[in-house]
Amino acid sequence: MFKTMNIFRLCTLKHMRLLLLMNTLIFLVLLFTLYISFTHSEKNFNSGNKFDEKQLTLNIIENRLQKLQQALKNRFPSAVDYIDVHVKHDLPTIYAITPTYKRWTQKADLTRLGQTLLHVPNFRWIVVEDSNEKTALVTNFLKFSGLQYTHLNAKTDQNYKLKSTDPNWLLPRGVAQRNKGLTWIRKNLSPHNNGILYFLDDDNTYSLRVFEEMRSTEVASVWPVGLSGGLKFEGPGKCKDGKVLEWYTAWKPERPFPIDMAGFAVNLKLLFKYSEAEYSNDAPRGYLESHFLTGLKLKRHDMEAKADNCSKVLVWHTRTEKPKMKQEEALIRQGKSSNSEMEV
Ligand code: UDP
Ligand code: MN
Repeated sequence: MFKTMNIFRLCTLKHMRLLLLMNTLIFLVLLFTLYISFTHSEKNFNSGNKFDEKQLTLNIIENRLQKLQQALKNRFPSAVDYIDVHVKHDLPTIYAITPTYKRWTQKADLTRLGQTLLHVPNFRWIVVEDSNEKTALVTNFLKFSGLQYTHLNAKTDQNYKLKSTDPNWLLPRGVAQRNKGLTWIRKNLSPHNNGILYFLDDDNTYSLRVFEEMRSTEVASVWPVGLSGGLKFEGPGKCKDGKVLEWYTAWKPERPFPIDMAGFAVNLKLLFKYSEAEYSNDAPRGYLESHFLTGLKLKRHDMEAKADNCSKVLVWHTRTEKPKMKQEEALIRQGKSSNSEMEV
């Protein structure tokens, strides 16, 4: 009797243990699922909350913007339209390549040009130094220019470099630099970029209107350049309905394009279509522009006439006088420049 009682107790004890173990397991599983579903719902709740918060902030900002626009409009009636034009996203970007080299007036020329360019919307300035290294002067200048820019360098081959005593017309200028800029565009942009290519020399004078004229270039466009080719102006002389009827030049009129570097712009699509087109140091004198444009398979009659059917001069081939620096140069020769720290 005692023996059977003991066996019975042992069996229930075993069962009880098993039951307890199973209960604990079920409890743990329940706890785990509860935890998972709780953290999940909290996440959803948080992200929903964040979304609402962002929407609220957006509403507040939009409201504030509207109030500011109204206040600005009250004081300066056309200011809002002006700002809208400057941040217009569907406006083609002008990519302008500028060769530049070290000389006494370099910073002055770049400053004057840079401050003109600050008024041009959707614009990227590709500045290419004629040097082995990027200089501190141009680097600092660009850093504080307030412009969207790309800074490159490409040294002119010594065989093609003008000596300071040479007349300007003896050799082409800016070839390696313009080609470096073209390579950058072809590498970093695509035919899908809505853009216009222009070549800006660093000492010319540009009206803001010339940039607005070139912006609508479909293939390639031209306009007259003031004070070029020994004339009041050179390039398209008579135009009608956006086509050039007569070209005006006094020198080598047989050139495919008797125009100045500042007198044409090209749609970027063409640059990608004819990916070999570039400048050449070996082009005959005065054929720099013609060589590039014929490389793009352009003919005179392809050119779209801008600037009110080529009746306005909006860009001038000005040149900065070389300053006389006798005293400074003497000091430099003695190794004691007036202030070697001063960037001029
Ligand atoms: N340039 C250059 N290296 C030179 C000479 C000129 O990079 O050795 C640049 C210059 O800064 C300018 C362009 O090439 O942007 C045309 O040169 P420049 O204005 O002297 O030519 P010009 O006005 O006589 O046609
Ligand atoms: Mn010049």
